Order: sequence, then structure tokens, then C-alpha cells
Amino acid sequence: MDDITRTYIDRTPGSAARAERAAALFPGGDFRAAAWHRPYPLTIAGAAGPWLHDVDGHDYLDLLGNYTALVHGNAHPAVVEAATAAVAAGTCWAAANDHMVELAELLVDRVASVEQVRFCNSGTEATMHAAMVARELTGRRTVLMARYGYHGSYDDYEAGNLGHPGPRTALAPFGDAAAFEAVLAERDDEIACVILEPVMGSSGVVPAPPGFLARVAEAARAAGALFVLDEVITFRLAAGGAQALVGVEPDLTTFGKLIGGGFPVGALGGRADVLAVTDPARGRLPLSGTFNANPVTMAAGAAAVRELTGDRIAAIDRWCGRLADGLSKAAADHGVPFSCRRAGSLLNVFLSPEPPATVAERTDGDLMAAFHLACLAHGLFFAPRGLLATSTVLSDELVDDAVDRAARAFASVAAD
Ligand code: PMP
Repeated sequence: MDDITRTYIDRTPGSAARAERAAALFPGGDFRAAAWHRPYPLTIAGAAGPWLHDVDGHDYLDLLGNYTALVHGNAHPAVVEAATAAVAAGTCWAAANDHMVELAELLVDRVASVEQVRFCNSGTEATMHAAMVARELTGRRTVLMARYGYHGSYDDYEAGNLGHPGPRTALAPFGDAAAFEAVLAERDDEIACVILEPVMGSSGVVPAPPGFLARVAEAARAAGALFVLDEVITFRLAAGGAQALVGVEPDLTTFGKLIGGGFPVGALGGRADVLAVTDPARGRLPLSGTFNANPVTMAAGAAAVRELTGDRIAAIDRWCGRLADGLSKAAADHGVPFSCRRAGSLLNVFLSPEPPATVAERTDGDLMAAFHLACLAHGLFFAPRGLLATSTVLSDELVDDAVDRAARAFASVAAD
């Protein structure tokens, strides 16, 4: 066994014991594929602000925030207060509540293209509902997405994430507007919607080239398809979402992650005339869900969105830049190959001299795994595939602390 793995195992007996129990209970011991890694993931006992605490008594600087959902860090007081009051008031009921109106108004006020909203319980449900709406309105079946794009675990989108066109999934390369136009022109009686991320998140923080989204939106509309922007991750990039930065007004926008304040959430927002198909009085596509718009998620989410001001967005972007610069320098100091790609407060690191076009095409898998494990052993937490996201509870000092921890991990990688 290599030294990095040995150190990780020696330091985390409590997590190891739990992983052993999990192995009997969950297929492959896994509860969430993106969070799984060898030899086993940590068991976290609790978290506060920028820190995660594991069951063995170690602290980790949290540079992931549950895959970007916790934009204000862990247990943020404003979010905890809102959620606690909602829990004490009775968690959920099959009737309306005030918090859902509050959160919907925040989204409608902030995001120019969003006139109305439907809440659900995950980003996956939001993107699935987008496809259902588009299929119902157009009478067509196929979704067109970017190869290796990620829109959740609905199978029509998973096919695209894995890079395979499916029976109801068409693909084109992200950033190649002409390729999207060609598919839309050739298959204009089949494509119900085009769905794109403004920045491919799971695929390695790949920003759309200038003009790409607007061109595809126009081609989609010309072909009679809906244009859906998936802002599950990118809503954190500007008060009005990434669409405000790129100047595109989609027919539908999907949200998730941060708008639930750390509770399960999804939302489909968009033009009122499009979402009208889900109006139960009209009977075409009623959407239901036991926990849709539940008061706890809505209260926590409203607090989180309210706290995400333009100034704070500027701060998390700045810290992410400082982090990227610090990591690049630390890697160079230790002679470890390194590259990264950043968009605002999102960063993906690669242990290769140049970043691959997407995570699916990376060639640094073993080195990345070693670096990730070494970072954990030095108290730095981020995604196994190298995704990092800054949060509003960081500071210049904490970012520098993160870089110091990463520098020690680079030293371990160089020694191994
Ligand atoms: N869309 C995008 C762009 C995502 O990044 C994700 C999750 N990482 C989803 C949809 C699915 O969201 P969830 O995990 O809440 O189902």
C-alpha cells in the first residue's frame, strides 16, 4: 500500500469502521457515487462555518460545501434560525405556506427570465420536469444536450453525461454552436428542448464560449424547441444567475443546491405561458410531490438566497481566484503537474500540465486520487474529481491556510 493511503487509513479508524458496516448495507458501500472514493469516504460527525469535523476528531476546511449547495458554509446562523423555526412550526403539510412565496419571489425578482416557479426536491427532478414540460408542449420526445454535460440522474440525461446518445437523447459538443444548429436543423421534428449549463460544472468547470448559449437558444426556438438553462450550480455566479452574465433569456431555468439552504430542493422557473402547462386547472401536466415547497426547505432557502448579495458573490469569486493562484504556485514549488479551470467561485483542479476538455477526458486519474487523499489527510476537503467551491464564510487567511494544506499534500504526492 502507498504511503498516502496508509496515512489516510491510520488517521481515520472511526470512518473505516463505519465504511465496513456500510459495505454490508449499501451496494459497494456507496450512498452517493460522486462522493465515493477509495479506500472509503470519511464519516462526518458535524460541521460549522467553513469546517467539517469527522468521527475521529479531525477538522477539514470545507472547500466543497456539499457540491456547491452550501454557499454560506455549514450551519450558517441565518439559515439555521430560519430552518429551526420552520421545523418547530411543523415541518410539512399538504397546503400552502408563506416561505414558498418568499423564496419564489426572491427568484422571480432576481432572475430576469423567471416569471413563475415550481418547486421540487432535487436538481434531477427540476431538469426532468423541464423535459416533461417541453415534451408536453411540443409533442416531441428528444432532449438535446452537451456531450458529458450533467443534468442529474434522470436516465435521458445520464446517457448524455456518459457520452452516449440514447433513444430520447441527442448530443453535440459543448461550445460548438454550429454542431447544435446542425442537429436542430436535421432533427427539427424530434427535439423537444435543448438543455445546457452556462458553465459545465460536473464536467470540470467549463465555461460556455462567448455567444454560444445565445446562438443555441436562437436555433432551438427556430426549430420550435424550448431552450432550458440549467443553473443548478451556476446560480451562485451572479445575483441574477449566470444568465445575467451571458445575457441569455431561456424559456425555462432549473435551480437546485443553494436555493434550499442545505436542504433537498429543486425548482423549475420560467415563462408563465410555458409553465402554464403545469397548471392543474388546465389538466395537461399536473406535477406533484409530497415534499414539494415544504416550509423547512423554503425558509432555509429564502434565508440563503437573501444572504447571497452581490458583494458576497464578488468576495467568493475573489477567494476562488486567490485559491487557484496559490494552488498553482504550490504545485510548481513541489514539481507536481497542475492546471485548473475557474469560473467565479467554482474551480476544478487537474494534476496534468493542461486541463482536459472535460473530466471525462482526463488522464490524471491516479495522481488526482492520490492528491485528493493526501489533501484529506492534511485537513482539506473537496470533491474526489477535483471540484472546489468557495463560500461566504471564508477569508483571505482561510484561503491561505487551504493553500498551505494543499502544499503539504503536493509534497506527499511528490514523495510517493
Ligand atoms: N444539474 C446540474 C448542473 C448539476 O450539477 C446537478 C447536480 N450536481 C443536477 C442538475 C442534479 O441535482 P441533484 O443532485 O440535486 O439531483
